[in-house]
Amino acid sequence: MADPKGFMTTPRQDWPRRPVDERVRDWDEVYVPGALLPIINKQADRCMDCGIPFCHEACPLGNLIPEWNDLVSRDDWRAAADRLHATNNFPEFTGRLCPAPCEAGCVLAINQPAVTIKNVEAAIADRAWELGFAPPRPPDRLSGRTVAVIGSGPTGLAAAQQLTRAGHTVAVFEKDDRLGGLMRYGIPEFKMEKHHLERRIAQMRAEGTKFRTSTAVGRDIGAAELRARYDAVVIATGATAWRELDVPGRELAGIHQAMEYLPLANRVCEGDLDVSPMSAAGKHVVIVGGGDTGADCLGTAVREGAASVTQLDIYAQPGAERDEDTEPWPTYPKIYRLSAAHEEAGTLRTAPAADADARLFAASTLRFTGDAGGRVRSLHLVEVDAERRPVAGTGRTLPADLVLLALGFSGPDRADGLVDQLGLAMEPRGTIARDAGFATSAPGVFAAGDAARGQSLIVWAIAEGRAVAAAVDRHLTGSSRLPAPIGPYDRPMTV
Ligand SMILES: Cc1cc2nc3c(=O)[nH]c(=O)nc-3n(C[C@H](O)[C@H](O)[C@H](O)COP(=O)(O)OP(=O)(O)OC[C@H]3O[C@@H](n4cnc5c(N)ncnc54)[C@H](O)[C@@H]3O)c2cc1C
Ligand code: SF4
Repeated sequence: MADPKGFMTTPRQDWPRRPVDERVRDWDEVYVPGALLPIINKQADRCMDCGIPFCHEACPLGNLIPEWNDLVSRDDWRAAADRLHATNNFPEFTGRLCPAPCEAGCVLAINQPAVTIKNVEAAIADRAWELGFAPPRPPDRLSGRTVAVIGSGPTGLAAAQQLTRAGHTVAVFEKDDRLGGLMRYGIPEFKMEKHHLERRIAQMRAEGTKFRTSTAVGRDIGAAELRARYDAVVIATGATAWRELDVPGRELAGIHQAMEYLPLANRVCEGDLDVSPMSAAGKHVVIVGGGDTGADCLGTAVREGAASVTQLDIYAQPGAERDEDTEPWPTYPKIYRLSAAHEEAGTLRTAPAADADARLFAASTLRFTGDAGGRVRSLHLVEVDAERRPVAGTGRTLPADLVLLALGFSGPDRADGLVDQLGLAMEPRGTIARDAGFATSAPGVFAAGDAARGQSLIVWAIAEGRAVAAAVDRHLTGSSRLPAPIGPYDRPMTV
């Protein structure tokens, strides 16, 4: 800690976002380019280097946060990059996309704004690339063992990088035409520009990882065949089986799942399409679902030029402060948060019935009605209490030409046949069952990430990828020096 009084003398300052009216006219990241570096040393200096850093515990990767805060405050970017990459394969992803449970667990956050840990992470990651501190690290020698990784989301990429660096010959099979999983076709460009993905994948190729895109295991290549060809298989296929909304009018045209809508907008950014066939331009858009996927739809619809956008959340509006009885420090609390997309929608004031940030809380969809052509035109909703019972006299109707369902995901999509071909045992909630060593019921087949954990976060996915790599390495060689930051049954801190 270069300045022991930093936390008393320097106020928290976040990476500034570009003005709303500028950023909604493009798809670039919302942050002001170059504005983080000039402020980050002083921000890192706010770290108290407290005796027991709860931020370590709160971060599923066990990132060595006080160490790299100290190194950044001293301008030692090479050492900071080394310490950061010691626990995180892809800090430029988490530095942009992580909800930062570490900051909720920061000791300073007990009575002051937390250290901007996520921003420090992004700054180190970006600086590492600029200064050449993130070179490919191919293995010194090969083990002669082969591993197939199915799925190229953060779980599959982390597992593949760890196993390649340990000397195994790794091929990643991906059913999409491009790599990255939900980071490619789910998460919009304005949250993370895809060149960050390309750069990591180029690094991984240079290390020796092989990639086969447009190859769905179970459909284009049999799962049993893959199992026979490789010494071990890692299933990292994500949890993309979406939840439905069974209300009258669901069959009307113009009602889509979020993950039908978001990939098309991402394909416009990739240059595959001039215009999304589901574009929100000129339409009244209602998003059903109050989570991050819904917020991504919101920011996308705003950029596409929607006439209005409203997001419905079934839960009541949370408070601005944590409830110390139910969600005490250092847990990650459910509090009112204003994402960049909510800030945009609020500033543009397009929502016909919602409050300042375009969200309607405690709102339950009753039905949709359409026009004579069978297209959706209205969404009818009612306010609900904490037990989701309708509150009398609160019914209202919103104009809706495009409805996006963002209700979460129940488990892996089984349409490709992978799970059934391998005869995998499943958990009652629909995820792939595995033992304490990440092994499924099929010998030599391991499962990690959202496919086994259920819908989660990128930081958990990377931690899963690192941990399953250690388990596979042990399976192949009898022991492993690869780090395993989590076990399959670890969960976020709660009381
Ligand atoms: C819209 C959206 C926004 C999100 N935003 C955030 C965020 O901002 N921050 C955050 O931390 N988390 C976010 N998440 C969650 C996060 O993206 C996931 O938790 C994470 O991507 C899971 O990683 P994964 O590798 O397990 O699975 P995925 O990222 O889903 O990757 C699985 C991959 O496997 C491939 N695959 C599936 N079946 C097969 C098969 N049979 N053969 C070959 N390939 C196959 C898929 O095509 C996919 O590429 C978001 C999720 C969504 C849906
Ligand atoms: S990965 Fe997430 S939880 Fe871990 S240090 Fe980075 S922002 Fe915090």
